[in-house]
Amino acid sequence: MHEWSVASGIIGSLASFQKERNAKVRKVEVGVGQLSGIDVEVLRYALGAMGEGEGLEGVEYVVKIIEGRFECSRCGHEWGYKESEDALKGISREVYGVEEPDGLESPLHFFPQLVTVFLRCPKCGSSDMEVVGGMDTVLESAILDEG
Ligand SMILES: [Zn+2]
Repeated sequence: MHEWSVASGIIGSLASFQKERNAKVRKVEVGVGQLSGIDVEVLRYALGAMGEGEGLEGVEYVVKIIEGRFECSRCGHEWGYKESEDALKGISREVYGVEEPDGLESPLHFFPQLVTVFLRCPKCGSSDMEVVGGMDTVLESAILDEG
């Protein structure tokens, strides 16, 4: 139920933003980290449900996926999830016997924390790396109806 606590934070920010500006939030962009383990559909539902009664009825939520990014601790190479996608699909098949669907929406969806265990640096082959992007879910922008 991680989605609900994330939604709660976003709704809280929006509600106070609305109050501060004395305006109505119309459209909101939320960036969901690919490695955050957040289920986009559950998050969307949670936002809608929690916005009720907070003056956030009818807000349009646009969810964008933020690509996972890694930095090699050995050679300093930085790369994105997309670059390792094929390798990761192979791992899913071998280790878990599951086929990962195409696209950014849900690869390694059920075990995003394990990505770095299986990944190798595409440049030097090291398994020593840091996740430098795509872990967080952030409120990117809110568009107001002024007046
Ligand atoms: Zn490297």
